[in-house]
Amino acid sequence: MNQQYPSRLLEKAVDEFAKLPGVGRKTALRLVLHMLRQDVSMVDAFAGAMTNLRHNVKYCRVCHNISDSEICPICSNPHRDASIVCVVENVQDVMAIENTQQYNGLYHVLGGVISPMDGVGPGDIEIDSLVRRVEENEEIEEIVLALSSTMEGDTTNFYISRKLAPYRKKISVIARGISVGNELEYTDEVTLGRSILNRTPFC
Ligand code: ZN
Repeated sequence: MNQQYPSRLLEKAVDEFAKLPGVGRKTALRLVLHMLRQDVSMVDAFAGAMTNLRHNVKYCRVCHNISDSEICPICSNPHRDASIVCVVENVQDVMAIENTQQYNGLYHVLGGVISPMDGVGPGDIEIDSLVRRVEENEEIEEIVLALSSTMEGDTTNFYISRKLAPYRKKISVIARGISVGNELEYTDEVTLGRSILNRTPFC
C-alpha cells in the first residue's frame, strides 16, 4: 500500500534517501523532515558536498585509492616502505589499516572482489593494474593480501597469487581467525594491526 505524502516534493526526497543502503522509507522520511528543519545553507552545503564529490573525485593513478591529486599522499610519501604492497578491497580498508598505525607500506585498492554471483569477474577489478605494477616496479618484494575471509575474498586471493606467481615475489596473507567472515572495516584496530604484523606466507 502506498503511503500518502502531503507533498510531491517530500515524496521525491524520500524516494532518493530510500535508495541508500540500509535506509527504509520510514528512516528516509525522518531524515528528510530533519533536513527540512535545517537552515537552507546547511542543506545547500550537504547537497553541494555530494555533488562535488561525485563530479570531482579522483583515484590515485598508482594504488586507486580515493585522492584529491593524481598520486595519493600515501604513494607519494618517501617515508613509506615501497617494497611492500597491501592488496585491499576498498577505500574503507585502507582507512582501517592506516588507523592501526602498524603498517608503513603501500596499498593497492581492487575496488571489489571476484564474485561470479554478482557478475564481478577478474577484469572488473584492479587486478591487471596490480600485475603491471609488480612487473614494472622491481623494488616491490612482498604483496600482502588483506581481503575479507569470505569465499569471494579467498577466490580473489587465489586468482591474484596465480597471476603474480611468475614474478617470484613473497606473497603473504594477513592472519585471520578470530573474526571469520568479518569485513576488515569492522575488525577492531588492535586485532587488525596484529593480523598484519602476524601475516603468513600464502600458499
Ligand atoms: Zn596511491
